[in-house]
Amino acid sequence: MTNRVAITSTEPGGVEHAVREAVRLAGGFGELIGPTSRVLIKPNQCKPSPRHSGCMADGDVVEAVAKLVLERRPKSVVIGDGAIAGYDFGGFSTQESFDSSGVTEVAKRLGIELRNLTTDIPVEVSIPNALIMDRVRIAKTALDSDVIISIPVLKSHIRTHATLSLKNMKGVMPGVEKRKTHRLGLDMAIVDLCTVVRPSYAVVDATVGMEGVWQYPQDTRKMGLIVAGSDALYVDVVGAALMGIDTAQIMHLQYMAQKEGKRAAIDAVEVVGERIADHRQVFKTGFDVFRGRYPEVCFVQGESACSGCTNELVSAITYMKQAGYGEQMKGLTVVIGNAADVRAEGKVVALGKCSAGVKGVDAHVPGCPPKEDEMVRVLCETCGVDPRKVRETMAGERKKLWDSSSGALQR
Ligand code: SF4
Repeated sequence: MTNRVAITSTEPGGVEHAVREAVRLAGGFGELIGPTSRVLIKPNQCKPSPRHSGCMADGDVVEAVAKLVLERRPKSVVIGDGAIAGYDFGGFSTQESFDSSGVTEVAKRLGIELRNLTTDIPVEVSIPNALIMDRVRIAKTALDSDVIISIPVLKSHIRTHATLSLKNMKGVMPGVEKRKTHRLGLDMAIVDLCTVVRPSYAVVDATVGMEGVWQYPQDTRKMGLIVAGSDALYVDVVGAALMGIDTAQIMHLQYMAQKEGKRAAIDAVEVVGERIADHRQVFKTGFDVFRGRYPEVCFVQGESACSGCTNELVSAITYMKQAGYGEQMKGLTVVIGNAADVRAEGKVVALGKCSAGVKGVDAHVPGCPPKEDEMVRVLCETCGVDPRKVRETMAGERKKLWDSSSGALQR
């Protein structure tokens, strides 16, 4: 692994040329793939979506990567993923995702096996030096592979701010196991998962990206790029920079860097090929969109505000309102990160370790990141409402969503 990350343009040579050039500039597959290699190509196939919408890695990019892999004549190649299982929303069919992204056609054309990892054999493994998740069930295909090539798409995410090649590995967790990562704390769970199934290489489909909360077509962003590198952490740092998202706010990148003695910052990366400055766009994060949907709440974010706090806050606020407490939430101020002192009248809640010193708050939720349950309790008590009703609403709504998506998850 090196810190070199290549960016190439799909103009004028097209997608295949851009993928070949990006992989070549980033050091190629030569040292990685040989005649005994069992390769898993893991494209992001999160939910059935129109091609070129920016939601999933497109068949054209997967095909270009697969051709490069086949040229190395490995022992075996599988293209595999498992669609989103949903946490605060339903789950999706992996086969429909493969079909709509063009990946089914690619696999047929190249004679490569396509495998639905949601329905693959699950194998429970323990995670050494885990941050939060010491055991996890993983699709056997991923564990049997000695080379994993992650192909994410360039996309923002409501909970983790960005979803790139490390977070893309969630697709190797079968069905409901994915939901466990949310219960435990998503950013830390991603790092634990990547301890046992760390991508050996990452090629980002940045031809078209997606911002906000993935509404099509308004959240689609044309980029015309491919990003590649042998260290998925640094590839993700470059991906975040292209979306104008500060890597200090993406907690799983920070935790991973800490764990591996690296820095998740753009000046730690050797960028070759196209310049970031010539292509950077500023993507709306999912949390920016979320804030706009709750005008009754004022969100104050300090510089250190990160996905660790916003991630759990999304559920707490959503289910307080669904429990019927919209009126009582009026005038609530939530402070995230090391913000300036607050001068608002009453109902001010500060979240997490970094806001511990902020003055003018009524209540504080400790932790880094704070736990969802504790956040619900403090927010409810500050608004004078019943946290049990919010928890019941949360559990009931999630159960309904999970029950309704169990059929899709079998496909
Ligand atoms: S307290 Fe919250 S905002 Fe601060 S670093 Fe921890 S998770 Fe991030």
